[in-house]
Amino acid sequence: MFDHYCTACATRQLIFATQVTSMTNTEHGIVVDFTCWCGADQTMTTGRAAERPSKVTLAA
Ligand SMILES: [Zn+2]
Repeated sequence: MFDHYCTACATRQLIFATQVTSMTNTEHGIVVDFTCWCGADQTMTTGRAAERPSKVTLAA
């Protein structure tokens, strides 16, 4: 579970593992695709190689 600022509904939402549609390991970090509560597809990059600092903890 992690929180995410949705670019579609402009709301900070809690995203649960059940909403995650895919997780891809890339050289830029872990790219997480998920569906927001509003139904919008969102993408977040996390992990050590992510460009922006993140305190995200994935409990998938
Ligand atoms: Zn949303």
